[in-house]
Amino acid sequence: MQLEDYVDGVRRGDRRVLAKAITLVESRRADHQALAQELVERLLDASGSAIRIGITGVPGVGKSTLIGALGAQLIEAGERVAVLAIDPTSQRSGGSIMGDKTRMERLAGDERAFIRPSPTGGTLGGVARRTREAMLLCEAAGHGVVLIETVGVGQSEAAVADLVDFFALLILPGAGDGLQGIKRGVVELADAVVVNKADQAPTAAERAALDYGAALELLTPLDGGWRPRVLLTSAATGSGLRELWQTVLEHRRALGAAGLAARRRRQALTWLHRLIDDELRQRLLASPALRRELAALEAQVLSGRATPTRAARSLVEAFVLKK
Ligand code: GDP
Repeated sequence: MQLEDYVDGVRRGDRRVLAKAITLVESRRADHQALAQELVERLLDASGSAIRIGITGVPGVGKSTLIGALGAQLIEAGERVAVLAIDPTSQRSGGSIMGDKTRMERLAGDERAFIRPSPTGGTLGGVARRTREAMLLCEAAGHGVVLIETVGVGQSEAAVADLVDFFALLILPGAGDGLQGIKRGVVELADAVVVNKADQAPTAAERAALDYGAALELLTPLDGGWRPRVLLTSAATGSGLRELWQTVLEHRRALGAAGLAARRRRQALTWLHRLIDDELRQRLLASPALRRELAALEAQVLSGRATPTRAARSLVEAFVLKK
């Protein structure tokens, strides 16, 4: 397939071509990478119009079920939905999240939906970059809503929050879950905290909602003066999903077109800086000599013979001199 075939196919909304285009974006081959960059650039004018939503939460909280149910609801309302994922931990499994497609069966079988598991391998920066470009391609293919799922472990939440217009943290009603997300700084990123499985433990869910509501009051309002909402849902029965969607739309109205554009510009800058860091690190570590040097420096830092600052400087000096 030539560049033009990809461009036409994606613009037509051909799911098969879209899948191939994303494979190109995910490929590590230099020629694929070059073609992928050209493709993304050619389609930039057609992307950007989707409502981008991020969903995070611990394994088992109900992310896949909720995305499957919300996606089905949106499709019934005439939307075209894309579901992507970011999971830097899935090196071999082919994506531990969304591994179980049965929760999205209805969605997966529908022409108007497009589901893609997390790209595998590489750094978080690399995985997130590929998902970002996949998102742009989905938008160019006419998907009006993009849902991005990530497991609530490590830094991937921040990466997803920097990709989307609306970021939702799913939590469980159990008291044991406490205010976990608050300690880890995830709540600060959330436009909504969603207490899922409210059908299982309604009383605990109400209490969790009150606790989070009180905690969120203490945070500084987000873009557009938005105060994060607390919602109760049951992904299994579908209750609360309509309210969740209404909240997404309300948030959009609160931001306004200018606010949304500002948020996306800020995200683009964050990505620029992240990708520079990532690219520099990768190039540095591509050199066997510098990798050996790094190992030696690690030993010096561990034994207290060098400070991390001095070791880092010396490695970067060696890298710059090599150029
Ligand atoms: P994920 O790991 O966050 O994607 O969670 P899953 O969507 O795979 O859900 C984990 C389990 O919880 C599955 O057995 C779901 O059927 C179940 N589940 C998800 N949402 C709900 C809910 O709202 N109520 C109940 N009772 N079960 C749910």
